[in-house]
Amino acid sequence: MSISTPVGSADRPLRVAVIGSGPAGVYAADILTKSEAVKSGELNVSIDLFDRYPAPYGLIRYGVAPDHPRIKGIVNALHKVLDRGDIRFFGNVDYGTDISIEDLRKHYDAIIFATGAIKDADLNIPGIELEGSFGGADFVSWFDGHPDVPREWPLDAKEIAVLGNGNVALDVARMLSKHADDLLVTEIPDNVYAGLKNSPVTDVHVFGRRGPAQVKFTPLELRELSHSKDVDIILYAEDFEFDEESDRQIQTNNQIKTMVGTLTNWIAEQPEDLSELTASRRLHLHFLHSPVEIVDSAETPGKVAGIKFERTELDGTGNARGTGEFIDYPVQAVYRAIGYFGSALPDVEFDHKKGVVTNDGGRVLDADGQHVPGLYATGWIKRGPIGLIGHTKGDALETVTYLLEDRENLPLAEVPAADAVVDLLDGRGVKFTSWEGWLALDAHELALGAAATEAGGSHGVEVKRERVKVVPREDMVNISRDGVSAQV
Ligand code: NAP
Repeated sequence: MSISTPVGSADRPLRVAVIGSGPAGVYAADILTKSEAVKSGELNVSIDLFDRYPAPYGLIRYGVAPDHPRIKGIVNALHKVLDRGDIRFFGNVDYGTDISIEDLRKHYDAIIFATGAIKDADLNIPGIELEGSFGGADFVSWFDGHPDVPREWPLDAKEIAVLGNGNVALDVARMLSKHADDLLVTEIPDNVYAGLKNSPVTDVHVFGRRGPAQVKFTPLELRELSHSKDVDIILYAEDFEFDEESDRQIQTNNQIKTMVGTLTNWIAEQPEDLSELTASRRLHLHFLHSPVEIVDSAETPGKVAGIKFERTELDGTGNARGTGEFIDYPVQAVYRAIGYFGSALPDVEFDHKKGVVTNDGGRVLDADGQHVPGLYATGWIKRGPIGLIGHTKGDALETVTYLLEDRENLPLAEVPAADAVVDLLDGRGVKFTSWEGWLALDAHELALGAAATEAGGSHGVEVKRERVKVVPREDMVNISRDGVSAQV
């Protein structure tokens, strides 16, 4: 390549690294390849997508509940993008360990961080550190077969509290209360089935700190709770408080109106005498309960024995305030599902309050608030863990638009040859996985599902299994790289 070869030409495409292959990263890569500049032939781009996990799809593989096939179906759209062949996938490559910012800067003209948020937000109440107090996001990682979390999950509680009124709280409560056999149609790994099968749970209580008109979950996800077999839903009349602001919300927001309607119908249909309910498990929905303390066990100090709430009342503005009345529930486990929180990335300025990479519309900023040339962010690590997967598209569009605007001023890569990064990883002994590797692992997981179906089902239950997820990282890597598995 001659020195005068312009960046963005066919001989010297603009080299972009995207860190994270969840929806945010794939959407950003896709939007860039479909931008007017690229479509018109004015700009050539070469995009490499890195992920710390051996498999692509991030949140969809490791954050969406297994019994949500409709959302998991977004994978088909992401698959189509990556299967086109114009975006390279490098799995099992950890930014900060296997590849540094200096490496990326040397090989790419621009870097987009799309690392999402996987940790639980903190809840600072006494007792949060007790045995039996869990983060909802950690539990999600476990039931979704995340390679880096322990295979065993302590499911020994009969009564469980789930804190929060968002969709993650509903996922956690639904997965805790559903019977394991009813999850065998999903892709749950065998260790997750075994754990859930042995759970002695009888009662799962979900607590929101505001009222029924202030919930954060969505209508479909709420209604779905009533589809779990042998699980009764229980509501409490004293929690149905609506102030003027609630009425306004019900009138102006269709989702809230639908959900309040669903909840009101459920409580109207509920027998006055709860002993008439026959299911072996119950899912209780409580409102106007603010968590105050997780109670230590007197018999086995260090273990959760209960949870204390302050009852709240609506304050007319959509918020709730304490009433001074406290109420205890005996539970042996507490799951906080009060939101996710992003993790800091090496060598990138991080806003520790918001849990996001410091940025302005996706342009990464330094400590002085100046744009760091060539660095961008998109998705939850840019705007925080809010919004549905589809919202990430608008986010990616904004980031990519800025990147294209900055095109003439990017700090150019010293070693832009596409093979150089492969040599770098190989030279370091990084066992990276490729798109072809993912296709092999994907086929392997589908074959495990087909084999279980052919054998007449799983665990003595006659059921069609679409896929069985491979969990251990080493197995994922071996199957992806060599088609070798310790599992079959
Ligand atoms: P979320 O929607 O923000 O809900 C967080 C919940 O935690 C809220 O009810 C919040 O109450 C409560 N909370 C926060 N701090 C609290 C505290 N100190 N004490 C008690 N309660 C507290 O977060 P999320 O459930 O983690 O979901 C994140 C995003 O992913 C959302 O956009 C969600 O819709 C999406 N998602 C979607 C699905 C799906 O199936 N469609 C599944 C999972 C996640 P306040 O409202 O009072 O603050």
